[in-house]
Amino acid sequence: MSDSSATWLQTLESLLVQRNGPLTRELLREPGRFGLGQVPASRLPTRTTRSVCGYCSTGCSLDVHLQDEGAVGLSPSTDYPVNLGMACPKGWEALTPLEAHDRVTTPLLRNDTGELVPISWPEAIEVFVERMGGIRERHGGDALAFLSTGQIPTEEMLSLGAIARFGIGMHHGDGNTRQCMATAVSAYKESFGFDAPPYSYADFEASDVLVLVGSNLCIAHPILWERICRNPHDPRIVVVDPRRTETAVAATDHFAIRPRSDLPFFYALANELITRDWIDRDFIEAHTEGFEAFAAHVAGFTAESVAETSGIAAEELRRLAELIHRGERVSFWWTMGVNQGHEATRVAQSLIALSLITGQIGRPGTGANSITGQCNAMGSRLFSGTSSLFGGRSFSDPNERQEVAEILNVPVERIQTQAGLAYDQILDAAETGRVRGLWVIATNTAHSWIERSRMDRAFDALEFLVVQDLYATTETAQRADLVLPAAGWGEKEGSFINSERRIGVTKKVRRAPGQALADFHIFRLLAEAFGVGAMFDRWKTPEDVFASMKALSRGRFCDFSGIEGYAQLDATGGIQWPCTEAEAAHGGPERERRLFEDGVFPTPSGRARLVFDTPRDVPESTDARYPFVLLTGRGSSSQWHTQTRTAKSAVLRKLSRTEPYVELSPDDAARLEIGAGDRVRLESRRGFVVLRAMVTTAVAPGQVFVPMHYVEANRLTLHVVDPHSRQPAYKHCAVRISQAQPRDEAAQM
Ligand code: SF4
Repeated sequence: MSDSSATWLQTLESLLVQRNGPLTRELLREPGRFGLGQVPASRLPTRTTRSVCGYCSTGCSLDVHLQDEGAVGLSPSTDYPVNLGMACPKGWEALTPLEAHDRVTTPLLRNDTGELVPISWPEAIEVFVERMGGIRERHGGDALAFLSTGQIPTEEMLSLGAIARFGIGMHHGDGNTRQCMATAVSAYKESFGFDAPPYSYADFEASDVLVLVGSNLCIAHPILWERICRNPHDPRIVVVDPRRTETAVAATDHFAIRPRSDLPFFYALANELITRDWIDRDFIEAHTEGFEAFAAHVAGFTAESVAETSGIAAEELRRLAELIHRGERVSFWWTMGVNQGHEATRVAQSLIALSLITGQIGRPGTGANSITGQCNAMGSRLFSGTSSLFGGRSFSDPNERQEVAEILNVPVERIQTQAGLAYDQILDAAETGRVRGLWVIATNTAHSWIERSRMDRAFDALEFLVVQDLYATTETAQRADLVLPAAGWGEKEGSFINSERRIGVTKKVRRAPGQALADFHIFRLLAEAFGVGAMFDRWKTPEDVFASMKALSRGRFCDFSGIEGYAQLDATGGIQWPCTEAEAAHGGPERERRLFEDGVFPTPSGRARLVFDTPRDVPESTDARYPFVLLTGRGSSSQWHTQTRTAKSAVLRKLSRTEPYVELSPDDAARLEIGAGDRVRLESRRGFVVLRAMVTTAVAPGQVFVPMHYVEANRLTLHVVDPHSRQPAYKHCAVRISQAQPRDEAAQM
């Protein structure tokens, strides 16, 4: 363990012990060998159950210790194949946000004076039906939309998608996975034929070269970083990132490319590998299509020609090519630094191409691997019924609509023939009056969506906004006409699918406060109220919905019809898809599995496609007035997205900065006479904010960085989406920075 890890753990331990007492110290000190007999009998839980964490896509398992009233503590599961006894601060503190004083415990309705006041559930349901139904009567289903989330169990996503679309008749639905994973979905679908991240976490430990692109794994996915630290092969850890992140500092090699110079850079890298014949021609010939055209395209990008735009010298790019060439098991990993760009899908596909042309896929320690963000982004990708029809099907395919209709026993004519509008289009349509009723479930759009002022205009124009969440204090709930109180993680059951496609169970370990209900029950109540309850009558419990999920997956590339149910998932430590009935009949599911070991891809030809494009200029260049590039991203491992939950924990607040800040380089700070801790004005063409200056070598001169966790970030960002995935480009816009003046502070009040 490094000194900094030890200090970090000590800080965490003392904070957790202060709050939870000595039991926590014992758990922290010996998480791998925790025995209940070692703690005082008075502190013994009466029983322990197991549940998958509800924050990030790593999908750690937590042993939740229960007494009569419900959960009293938790510790990481030691034998779960994902986290192997580890958890990050958010996981350790997962129970705390559930006890927050601002939990919403009754439905709330905005009254004539603009206040949100408590009402009963029957009144709330009546208002929902009257207002949403009224809009549908007057303007049709085209005027209704929902925005869902990657934070609820898959069973709830499926029931929401089915009830909202087929039952209530909403034509449009999307989710916050559009903000993080849409690019990976588009890239995989086009290149592999199915949205199929191919890896298993065991690959982190099997690679001898890991290339991490736009991924600050140390803080974004700390347990996955721990898996790399367990790699016994003394791997080269290559980070490609404009910032000198915590991960870049810990890596063996850091290539600090200039923001959004990635596509030409990776094309030049591919060209270097091809030119030197450091590619796997047998694999290319047998398992890919489009190589000749790809090679001809990337021939236009050389190490020399991209050196100036990328900031990486030609010999450095060649050194990276050689590292990849010398590796026996090379894996490429990416997250938001790739996904949140103006040409993100093509950048993701350039990494897929690097993996394909070198034959680094389908074997242990290899792959073109997108790491997901939210705990159930992968569930959303398959079963939210938003951009695709359930099980990775298409709304526009009549045969696939018929399949879904038969499996779910709903009339096929109730299934829309198009996916409907994407997230950005829904907000645009709200602004123009096309979408009039919006239902937001477990996401905080008003904080997280790009370019706040645009989002404000959209919300201002809505006729009716419903927010369904744990708290009425989120920026989005504060704008709602109606708030529906929802149970959170730990207060309901279901399943999540993690980044490595592992399906795990999350359980109810405490009662939701007041009248808060599981989202599943709210959806079912609304179905009844709209008179379509009978259509979904088969779903009495979340596990009934899981049975439908299995049926919807049968025969698809993600087929997990061989999974028996929750009890088996619980007993086996989760199961990765695919797990077909035939496989289950012959020895059962494997503990670890990766895709494409046979070199066959789910495209019509069975071959992976090499996809490329002409790089495009950034939508907003820096200039004399706005000379800095603004980057956004995660700030720490103790903060989650808009901090809706993590800000409720005193422990987590102490492990991060509560005051919004901007990072800038020592060179720029000296030139602008800005000192560490100064209040500064950060301004884009959309507006300005006042933040605390943090002077650090983590950012290069000419760049500044603001964590996404603070509402200030999106007052500056520019509304641009990747044309293929429609994922927002949060990672690049032009700003200027100066000392804040008293009038700036006053304007921010
Ligand atoms: Fe694991 Fe992610 Fe939960 Fe942390 S937040 S405990 S890394 S699943």
